[in-house]
Amino acid sequence: MSDLKDALFFMLLVIDLTNSGTLAQLALFGTNQAEVTNNIARGLELLGPAITLDTIVETLVIGVGTLSGVQRLEVLCTFAVMSVIVNYVVFMTFYPACLSLILDLSRNGMDMSLVRAKAKDSILLKALNDEEQKTNPVVQRVKIIMTTGLMVVHIYSRVVFSGSDYETVDKKLSPQMNLNANSSRTESGEFTDMIIKWLTMSADQVVILILLIALVVKFIFFEHRNDLHDQLRQSSVALASKEANDDTALASVAPVTVDDASQTEFIPKVPVLVVTPPNGSLRKRLPLFTIEEQNSVNVHTQTDAITEFSQLLPLEKFDPPPARPLQECLEILQSTDDSVSPAQLTDEEVIMIINTASQYCPLHNIESILDDPERGVHIRREVLCERAKMPRDRMGCLPYQHFDYTKVMNACCENVIGYVPIPVGFAGPLLLDGKRYFVPMATTEGALVASTNRGCKALSVRGVISHVEDVGMTRAPCVRFASISRAVEAKNWINNEENYKKIKAEFDSTSRFGRLRECLIAIDGPQLYIRFVALTGDAMGMNMVSKGSEMALRFIKNEFPDMQIISLSGNFCCDKKPAAINWIKGRGKRVVTECIITAQTLRTILKTDAKTLVECNKLKNMSGSAMAGSIGGNNAHAANMVTAVFLATGQDPAQNVTSSNCSTGMECCGQNNEDLYMTCTMPSLEVGTVGGGTGLPGQGACLDMLGVRGANQTHPGENAKKLAQIVCATVMAGELSLMAALVNSDLVKSHMRHNRSSAAIAGKMNPLNVTVSSCSNIS
Ligand code: NAP
Repeated sequence: MSDLKDALFFMLLVIDLTNSGTLAQLALFGTNQAEVTNNIARGLELLGPAITLDTIVETLVIGVGTLSGVQRLEVLCTFAVMSVIVNYVVFMTFYPACLSLILDLSRNGMDMSLVRAKAKDSILLKALNDEEQKTNPVVQRVKIIMTTGLMVVHIYSRVVFSGSDYETVDKKLSPQMNLNANSSRTESGEFTDMIIKWLTMSADQVVILILLIALVVKFIFFEHRNDLHDQLRQSSVALASKEANDDTALASVAPVTVDDASQTEFIPKVPVLVVTPPNGSLRKRLPLFTIEEQNSVNVHTQTDAITEFSQLLPLEKFDPPPARPLQECLEILQSTDDSVSPAQLTDEEVIMIINTASQYCPLHNIESILDDPERGVHIRREVLCERAKMPRDRMGCLPYQHFDYTKVMNACCENVIGYVPIPVGFAGPLLLDGKRYFVPMATTEGALVASTNRGCKALSVRGVISHVEDVGMTRAPCVRFASISRAVEAKNWINNEENYKKIKAEFDSTSRFGRLRECLIAIDGPQLYIRFVALTGDAMGMNMVSKGSEMALRFIKNEFPDMQIISLSGNFCCDKKPAAINWIKGRGKRVVTECIITAQTLRTILKTDAKTLVECNKLKNMSGSAMAGSIGGNNAHAANMVTAVFLATGQDPAQNVTSSNCSTGMECCGQNNEDLYMTCTMPSLEVGTVGGGTGLPGQGACLDMLGVRGANQTHPGENAKKLAQIVCATVMAGELSLMAALVNSDLVKSHMRHNRSSAAIAGKMNPLNVTVSSCSNIS
């Protein structure tokens, strides 16, 4: 262990992390997995020979120490040589493999551009980038000072200065030298002493010193990375120009040029640009190789050609390359040759295929064909701009970059042209069942989050208590028989306990989590509406229950071959439409919350009192809603909180219809009846923490904020239930705050403040003198 401790010093010197960093940087410039792999391979190709040579030289030089005959030095040098070899083996084998794997996994988990951005910000890479600045005198000085300091410390610790040390050292010296030293010490002055001090260094110290100096000289003066640095610069220029190109492409169809002198100076002096051109963007700029070349060579060769050519002429001299003939493009598209891929087509060529031979590349399928979701989205936007005659600068306002479309494809959206950012705020902390939650809310309605936040503050003084029940998700097919007697026969058959068990077994076989609970059958003439009710674990469950219902129907049809299946959904479910059945029977999760808000809290936070709130609640949320013929609408604005939380957490937004069913109750309680007892009852909250939009990164983060992302591993269904409880408690907070605002005539004022520019209302507010009785639910 003691040898190892000393050897650490050597190991740190010989292990070169900068190569690893450089390779990682190079890999990060790939925009898809194929490019990442290519870049790693090419980086190894460039770094490999130099590193191999370094390893051989270092092994030989340090290996001399292992033959020195000085035991301690031999041990140290053995460790150092082993470090050099292990470092080499790891760098050439495990490291690139791991790098490729990690970036592939990162790609699945997040946007590569985000990974790149993170990498750019990483301290290590920043340090490495700084190191690239060879001309930076400070870095050089620090290096020299540090290594000199190390050597001085080393020499100082070894060379003997004191008299007793002389004696120790003297024993090591030959008698002749000892004699000389003694006489010098006595007869000569300090000068002689100094010389002797140096002569007293043992052989291993001398060798170590020489080694150190050799390594330092190599480290400072012979680390030639210019080629690679050029390449990195080139890669970053190419990538930056692609990103700039992408950003500006919609604003202008003019070819991208590199005007900035600082960018043109990045053009390498030797043909070293080897990074795969990001999705043809370089080809978009540089018409550098012939069609034969493009067809016959792999991407690297094309890029080499770009570089070689680009040395001869400044970039801005090039026009965009002409698109190849359609036939040739189709051959590339359909080629089975591994070295040819559709990704080699330029954007213009892909658009040409879409417009003239869409059967080979349908507009909705570009991402899969190019194996590059973001590029697919970009091209679709281009096509749409043309077809919809939409100005490109307007389309440019719809963002599309930095989004993980792999999570969207075949899951959340088709024909994707971008995404609409919605601001997300938070309300809280909300004390619910003894735990504090910060609730994410996505909305464009100013004042909503602020109001809900105020409600959370008032509720959290005492805390909210909740109860949740998994009612089950529903799907109700409509089936038809030839006569009502046959329909009744089928209804009775399904309701038979034994038959129901068989139907349930069929239903349950379609999912690990979907479990049929009930078949509620309504008859209308010869039609049956069979409402399958099923528990669906942590998923909202519409797909699951639809799948199960289809299987169950198939089983029933075996028994009743004359049964005609009209529709898998017969609207008795009832999904995304207002319906009394969901209000009465429930759908998804049924949640009830309660809270007592003290008179003091009402006074200080909400500027009102219990009696006024209770009266307003009765006249507005009960009588007013009854006057309007509302079903499930005995509330002030439950849909506001439901929708905001739904959007933030990846729920199906259209299900706010049924999910917003809510009855808000208020009663006076406590001493002198001055406290407020409040409840919210929501019988049909359709929420899930797996499936649908919950898997998208942003929405997943919001679920994380609530601690309910994904499937509950130990108790499936608990995460979804907890989310339902949080939604209901958030609704309660919003209800309380709005009711207080209404009785205080604050509603318009706060909307003017938060929902419009303050300039518009400054000094102009003249609040209506709204009385309790005028706060009805009619508007
Ligand atoms: P889903 O993503 O279709 O299904 C959930 C998946 O998650 C299932 O494959 C399930 O496994 C799996 N899973 C893993 N762990 C689970 C757990 N702990 N609990 C539950 N499932 C778990 O999601 P869904 O909720 O059924 O459907 C939601 C989607 O349907 C949304 O995109 C929504 O917009 C859409 N939707 C569909 C309809 C329709 O009529 N089909 C209507 C409205 C909305 P198993 O394979 O073992 O079940």
